[in-house]
Amino acid sequence: MTTSSQWFERAQKVTPGGVNSPVRAFGAVGGTPPFMASASGPYLTDTEGKEYVDLICSWGPMILGHRHPAVLEAVQAALQRGTSFGAPSGGEVELAEEIVARVDPVEQVRLVNSGTEATMSAIRLARGFTGRNKILKFAGCYHGHVDALLASAGSGLATFALPDTPGVTGAQAGDTIVVPYNDLPAVEKVFAEIGDEIACVITEAAPGNMGAVPPLPGFNAGLKEITARHGALFISDEVMTGFRASRSGWYGRDQVAPDLVTYGKVMGGGFPAAAFGGRADIMQHLAPSGPVYQAGTLSGNPLATAAGLATLRHCTPEVYARLEEVSSTLGREVSAALSGVGVAHRVQYSGTMFSVFFTENAVVDFDDVQATESYRYTAFFHEMLRQGVYLPPSPFEAWFVSASHDDTAVNRVIDALPAAAAGAA
Ligand code: PLP
Repeated sequence: MTTSSQWFERAQKVTPGGVNSPVRAFGAVGGTPPFMASASGPYLTDTEGKEYVDLICSWGPMILGHRHPAVLEAVQAALQRGTSFGAPSGGEVELAEEIVARVDPVEQVRLVNSGTEATMSAIRLARGFTGRNKILKFAGCYHGHVDALLASAGSGLATFALPDTPGVTGAQAGDTIVVPYNDLPAVEKVFAEIGDEIACVITEAAPGNMGAVPPLPGFNAGLKEITARHGALFISDEVMTGFRASRSGWYGRDQVAPDLVTYGKVMGGGFPAAAFGGRADIMQHLAPSGPVYQAGTLSGNPLATAAGLATLRHCTPEVYARLEEVSSTLGREVSAALSGVGVAHRVQYSGTMFSVFFTENAVVDFDDVQATESYRYTAFFHEMLRQGVYLPPSPFEAWFVSASHDDTAVNRVIDALPAAAAGAA
């Protein structure tokens, strides 16, 4: 048996930081990440045979739980037919039809391989469609590692962004304007000054990437109104919330119709599938029907479309009811455990994704997030991990549940909470 420590040592020699995506490292909490060997339902099992209740769910995709029989069956059947055609196939049409049927404002979609590709392509399309260069995003919202979107605000209400990372040039970030989240007056102010230069506003439909910080009532509707008034497009990033917040994503909750939407995670059923879509008149600007170029060797891959389609088709009303029940139960119990040891906190929800913030105050933007007593999370996290509960290894990430989280799994989490809460005190 190779232990997690041994895997991690080997991994660090051949892969930067030993992981293929930074969020998997334990940078914020310290320690060695367990290396996973298998998964089933709500559980992950590491290489040493230790089982964890999974409250990350692959950062969203595993809405039905791991190894759902219908998804495995669909993928196995697809596997027998071929792994990649490089030519159109029926599965792509069926997956697109499934999405279009669920979300009224989405009249056409283009399939891609990751959420990053979806947002990158949606922005290119918005620029191509409007003939404008500037884009507006919100501090604390993550839209994948697109150059122009890896930019954050400096001081001031609205800022022309500086690159967040070496490797992104000033020119790539320079057309990105960053504004505090949930701050419509800040958006109005930018549009009053340079509204005719802005191609689009992109926002997480209900953010999960600074922890769960939901839009205040009327925020998304306000964005829609302002963009429409100025001839800019409203892009709702539903990579996390899509088909998780409801059968039609966050749109199913607030009914604010975006011009373009981005999807990923759930719609791939654990495989690399993502999409962007929206108004047909905009989507028609994409090659080959229009001039805006976008492409992908593996886009609409038959295994990914089979997994995604099976997943979406099994997202029944009962699935969404269970997500609500599990997330509200866990949020309530986390809160009770922390109250029990006198730790000030708030549990916030973006749909059924949720996070615990160590503060008494409402958390409505990224400044609020950064002002929380996030250091308390480290001891909480490690005690949960020790007791077999796999939480995001960062205080600024959302927790995800699946329909496979039955009462046994939920109770295992609840039983672990008192000791973890004591650690946070
Ligand atoms: N948009 C949002 C809201 C996300 O949460 C993510 C990833 O977590 C992305 C885009 C990027 O997706 P991917 O990691 O598939 O590139």
